[in-house]
Amino acid sequence: MHKKSEQEAYWRLTAKLPDHPPLSESRETDVVVVGGGIAGITTAYLLCQKGVRVTVVEASEIVSGTTGHTTAKITAQHGAIYDELLHHFGLEGARSFYEKNQQAIDWIRNTVSQKQWECDFETQDAWIYADSEATIQQLEKEQHAYDKLDIPYKHASKLPFDIHCDGALIMPNQAQFHPTRYISAMVEEIVEMGGKLHEQTKAVDIQEGQEIQVTMENGHVLTCQHVVVASHFPFYDGMGLYFAKMKPERSYLMAGHWKEKDPGGMYISIDQTVRSIRFFSMDGSRGILVGGEPHSTGQGEPTDHHFDVLQKFTSTHLGKVDFTYRWSSQDYTTLDKLPYIGAISNRHPRILVATGFRKWGMTQGTMAAHLISERILGTSTPSSDLFDPSRFHADPALKKVISINSDVVKHFVKSKLEIPVITLKQLPLGAGAHVNWNGQQIGAYKDESGNVHAVDTTCTHLGCSVNWNSSEKSWDCPCHGSRFTIKGEILEGPAMKPLEVIKTDGCEG
Ligand SMILES: Cc1cc2nc3c(=O)[nH]c(=O)nc-3n(C[C@H](O)[C@H](O)[C@H](O)COP(=O)(O)OP(=O)(O)OC[C@H]3O[C@@H](n4cnc5c(N)ncnc54)[C@H](O)[C@@H]3O)c2cc1C
Repeated sequence: MHKKSEQEAYWRLTAKLPDHPPLSESRETDVVVVGGGIAGITTAYLLCQKGVRVTVVEASEIVSGTTGHTTAKITAQHGAIYDELLHHFGLEGARSFYEKNQQAIDWIRNTVSQKQWECDFETQDAWIYADSEATIQQLEKEQHAYDKLDIPYKHASKLPFDIHCDGALIMPNQAQFHPTRYISAMVEEIVEMGGKLHEQTKAVDIQEGQEIQVTMENGHVLTCQHVVVASHFPFYDGMGLYFAKMKPERSYLMAGHWKEKDPGGMYISIDQTVRSIRFFSMDGSRGILVGGEPHSTGQGEPTDHHFDVLQKFTSTHLGKVDFTYRWSSQDYTTLDKLPYIGAISNRHPRILVATGFRKWGMTQGTMAAHLISERILGTSTPSSDLFDPSRFHADPALKKVISINSDVVKHFVKSKLEIPVITLKQLPLGAGAHVNWNGQQIGAYKDESGNVHAVDTTCTHLGCSVNWNSSEKSWDCPCHGSRFTIKGEILEGPAMKPLEVIKTDGCEG
């Protein structure tokens, strides 16, 4: 169990997570899974069930990534997406996506029920709702797509809250759970089946010959036949150019006790600001989760602004809630909004990747685990081609690749031209910012005792300038989503090297 910190997720503070020792030797295994989130752990579980020797390596702790910071709705209703998928992937592609997600829900439901895993699993309806002229048109198109795709749904004209609603589509029989308790139960079985897990073990390189060698930061090497890169952002690119074809986006979540009657259901608006609501079992009573406020990583308003907006939304439309937990997290969206699942690139058919879940990774991470384990076991079906990371559909992919990368250029150029307005001396206690230090632009955080932690703000990935994230006290890159601690250490994203530390040695410039 983790100690409560102001910005830690409810899921991380309320589940028992056994420790697993770091890898302390080089050895052989059949499959190496890199990453202890839902995608990696489910893959390991499925392979262990088939008698494959699996070793999972996790840079930090199991479920410390996005899976431990999610909303944990388990649904095939990923916002309003099916009209768009229908246009870009046709009837067969869009239907296959829906069916694979629905199968993932059924698999989770059956597994939890058969194994009697205690993870607060609840069947719930998923709602998307429109609250404006523009979104009602989108909702109508979505309903039309549901009809074409034979997706079961109900229509509603209002919500069980005081929120303006021009119409809603309800996908029945979806679900929700406590993600950390779910993964924890799965991990226990992986260990019982002989799977090996190593925390605090960061994979840094892959060499492919007749066998594949995965090298860890501590120098130990795992030799294997297949590698599954389930590190959220792929830690190894394999010439797949993932940084140029995925966009990171952060969102905010708040959780607290819910004293009113629970109306049931999981709700999400289809406007740009996104309001996500669901109820859950919290310390023997009911809790409410309210989320939203998405923005590109490293580009949002100060963090407190987003939490203030969500708090105000809640008190205006839902009632008074004392939010005792608040956190934020990020996920990646691909060029065409379908995940990348399969060979990391055409050159590396035995290095498999699962990423780009667009904030819907409970089903897509589970679906990826099935597709990848089937591929390793040699039982794949052609439907997995839909998610092949090497696919390229000109529309909308081309437009997106240009827009993602012109955004990168904007941040790259802007960062080099701006001079910080405050000096290191003027930086208040407990604050971080770009500061002017002896005429040089640096990033500095001054702790409550006045100690300064300074870094070169040039992201070590591709040279954009990182921005201060006041909530997580981290430096976040607006270009490709790499994130660093106040000491410059890597937290997540594509960067492989820490930020350069600048020694100010008590000199405030
Ligand atoms: C705010 C928010 C709300 C969301 N809500 C929902 C929801 O309601 N429903 C839904 O379906 N999805 C939701 N999602 C999306 C979902 O949480 C993610 O898609 C999913 O958790 C990603 O799982 P993962 O296994 O790919 O990555 P992660 O859970 O991030 O796991 C990857 C792991 O790899 C480790 N790692 C990284 N690099 C290395 C390395 N080099 N070596 C070893 N280990 C490494 C990391 O430490 C991490 O633990 C939400 C996402 C966000 C941001």
